[in-house]
Amino acid sequence: MNRIYLSPPHQSGAEVEFVNKVFASNWLAPVGDTLDSFELDIKNYCGSEVCALNSGSSALHLSLVIQNITHDDYVLVQTHTHIATINPIIYQGAIPIFIDSEEDTWNMCPQALEEAVKNCLAGKYGEAKLPKAIIPVHLYGMPAKMDGIMKVANTHGIPVIEDAAESLGSTYDDKHTGTFGKMGIYSFNGNKIITTSGGGALVSEDADLIQKAQFLATQARDNAPHYQHSQVGYNYRLSNVLAGIGRGQMQVLDDRIAARRANFERYKKYFAEVNTKGYSIQLQQEPQGSFSNRWLSCIVINPHVNKGITREAVRLAMEAKNIESRPLWKPMHLQPVFEKYPFVSTGVSERLFEIGLCLPSGSNLTDEDFERISSCLDSIFS
Ligand SMILES: *Cc1c(COP(=O)(O)O)cnc(C)c1O
Repeated sequence: MNRIYLSPPHQSGAEVEFVNKVFASNWLAPVGDTLDSFELDIKNYCGSEVCALNSGSSALHLSLVIQNITHDDYVLVQTHTHIATINPIIYQGAIPIFIDSEEDTWNMCPQALEEAVKNCLAGKYGEAKLPKAIIPVHLYGMPAKMDGIMKVANTHGIPVIEDAAESLGSTYDDKHTGTFGKMGIYSFNGNKIITTSGGGALVSEDADLIQKAQFLATQARDNAPHYQHSQVGYNYRLSNVLAGIGRGQMQVLDDRIAARRANFERYKKYFAEVNTKGYSIQLQQEPQGSFSNRWLSCIVINPHVNKGITREAVRLAMEAKNIESRPLWKPMHLQPVFEKYPFVSTGVSERLFEIGLCLPSGSNLTDEDFERISSCLDSIFS
């Protein structure tokens, strides 16, 4: 039986046409009309200025460079995330301070954030100083509690950089995730809600800042006939060819969100039925005022209220049927590579890692796929 993946790419069919136009123009380069148009597509969608880059990771890195984050600066960052959120902090020689999640959205807890700011100012982590940035993540597409986070940020005057890699199209109080802070980033990796095979974007309301991102992403070349440089830059721009894929994908973004939300509703209905048989499976909740793109549908299975069934038992049963599922992100403060950095705990991310599971959530999941998944789950939750 063919494998059912967690979140495979999903073509619209229009990508090839856009890419063909690029070939006809001969601009097989990190510059060109299609790249400009792709940026405009994103701008028209989320409302911010856009610099398209070769990955979400490079977008995060550039955001820290632009914010002048350097050696021994404190950066307050969500612990429950993918490692790409953290790596650029290390590239800059800064110190990540891991912030635990709250129960409702599984994202950065505003209270724990406030506590971490106070700890920084009190010299609890070394030199007493204000953190240089706050990086919340909108995990699995679910918007973080941005009102609480922005309140802490504004009270102390700390810039916010939103990792919206997983949440393109998600909104909080009708405003796009990625547009609350000083900067935001999106990812167009192959497993995200739309893909350019690999790619990303840095977004901001500040046009000067986006211009600066473009400059830094193209080797920071000064205005001169020869190659003249007065600062260190990067080769981070998105290819014009891949922007063609992105243009085809942007046309169907809203359909993809609708399909992923329909997956979630299907799982919700399925587990409501399971729960009538003496189980208690919970799904990631969407609080009032939040709209999630439901990039991944996630459940938590507490064995104490589920007849001893663990999330790992479910994962292995699915794997035996060639169905991919995955534990929720292992918190970054538990990663061997980040052991030595400070952490402000609520207990939430560690528990989620123990009992949480991401289910197949592709926008191209078929009725047949869902039948296979539910009959596999039926055999566990009988
Ligand atoms: C995918 C992802 C990234 C990195 O994006 P790439 O385009 O793969 O570099 C960053 N943060 C989170 C939360 C992600 O899921």
